Amino acid sequence: MNKDLRKVVIAGNWKMNKTPEEAKKLIEEIKPLVKDAKCEVVTCVPFVDLTTVLEATKGSNIKVGAQNCHWEEKGAFTGEISAPMLKSMNVEYVIIGHSERRQYFGETDITVNKRVKAALANGLKVIICVGESLEQREQGVTCELVAMQTKIALNGVSADDMKNVIIAYEPIWAIGTGKTATAEQANEVNHAIRETIAQVYGKAVADALTIQYGGSMNAGNAEELLAQPDVDGGLIGGASLKPADFAKIVEAASK
Ligand code: PEP
Repeated sequence: MNKDLRKVVIAGNWKMNKTPEEAKKLIEEIKPLVKDAKCEVVTCVPFVDLTTVLEATKGSNIKVGAQNCHWEEKGAFTGEISAPMLKSMNVEYVIIGHSERRQYFGETDITVNKRVKAALANGLKVIICVGESLEQREQGVTCELVAMQTKIALNGVSADDMKNVIIAYEPIWAIGTGKTATAEQANEVNHAIRETIAQVYGKAVADALTIQYGGSMNAGNAEELLAQPDVDGGLIGGASLKPADFAKIVEAASK
């Protein structure tokens, strides 16, 4: 497995945190700390922070993402934001199918797939989240489940569009809990995802795909996780709100 074939991406997921004013302050703190990164650095921020963060990151190496988008281009979908709206602002990335959306907002594999296709059709890069609950892990179905989530999320996505896809393996039991998958567990599932991609799209696409790990990645455990052959970056929640910690993770990914 040749890691040099793919991009290492560290993406912060700010979740529902930071007003625009607070977002500007946080970005100004993060910017100098990650300016020499040898990996891609992304911050996925609340919709209301996008304008501020896009402005504040201009000329820097920080890319900007949203945390969701709807599958329709426009229409009677009160409270939703579409992919063309994000694209028109020059947003580059969008997270799709985060477990918090699956858990609290009725997101399913089918709606994940619709959002992924809309985002890609509008020129956005997607970070698709997959992962098992603790119960599912204990039942021994993690790799099958994650393979299924991945296949459904990508149904109808062309091999060519896969260059704009990142998969984030995020075990639900590790998100925001302080519990992290061991480096071996993370690598095993990331490897299973890559095998699934190889079955569907062939080895070249699988080898080039960035597969992140997410779930309580922090300044202390990032290096070991990121050293795994199939872990090509991280999706970072809590630690992305702490500039020094986020910078340490970026540094670990730059090695
Ligand atoms: C996340 O929100 O995707 C995440 C991984 O959160 P945390 O790092 O806080 O577990």
